[in-house]
Amino acid sequence: MDLIGCNLQAVKQRIANAALACGRNPANIGLIAVSKTFGAPAVAGAHAHGQYAFGENYVQEALEKIAVLAHLAPDSRMEWHFIGPIQSNKTRAIAENFAWVHSVDRPKIAERLSSARPAQLPLLQVCIQVNIGNENSKSGIAPDQALELARVVVALPRLRLRGLMAIPPASEHPAQQRRYFAQLRQIKDELAGAGIALDTLSIGMSGDLEAAIMEGATLLRVGTAIFGQRLKD
Ligand SMILES: *Cc1c(COP(=O)(O)O)cnc(C)c1O
Repeated sequence: MDLIGCNLQAVKQRIANAALACGRNPANIGLIAVSKTFGAPAVAGAHAHGQYAFGENYVQEALEKIAVLAHLAPDSRMEWHFIGPIQSNKTRAIAENFAWVHSVDRPKIAERLSSARPAQLPLLQVCIQVNIGNENSKSGIAPDQALELARVVVALPRLRLRGLMAIPPASEHPAQQRRYFAQLRQIKDELAGAGIALDTLSIGMSGDLEAAIMEGATLLRVGTAIFGQRLKD
């Protein structure tokens, strides 16, 4: 089998092992292949192995790949997820070309995505990005403002709020990784208590997917472990 196929198989094995270790059903843990900086052939390669969900960070780069791979889309369940920081002048392109957006972090962006979402497409599936760890360098709304933003998103007609996303501070220690992910899970519980029930936790990348699964991840975003090391970022 080719490298991407082997890598995908290895990632799925890691997911299965981690799920087994905490008594979860691996079928409830989705895998998004993060293809940023890799070209359309890499995406097509993963698609050939049955991978349908892809994550992209940069609008222009993503639009080119989506156009080149449009022939795969009709009967193939191709599903594009936008996971990068969002500038407001890019909201229309995102709303028109993606099924999911994981990085909604302020009301203005949510409002613009909703008004730009074409009527003939399904509702745009949305996660709110939370800045767990309150790092200056990272986007995401502050944890104590997540509920307020969730109320805004829930009220918008063309968005469907599905869950929360986070990229916690980098740590090589599983116990520390789990503490950050647990904070996001706690915010999800608080929102449920306030009447906003969510079914998605978008957490876990190549280096910490096991810890994320232990804390309830339902969508993993994995790049390096599938496509290899990125030259630029
Ligand atoms: C790049 C990126 C990933 C994938 O990270 P890897 O460590 O390569 O698995 C996941 N989520 C976001 C938001 C990213 O930007």
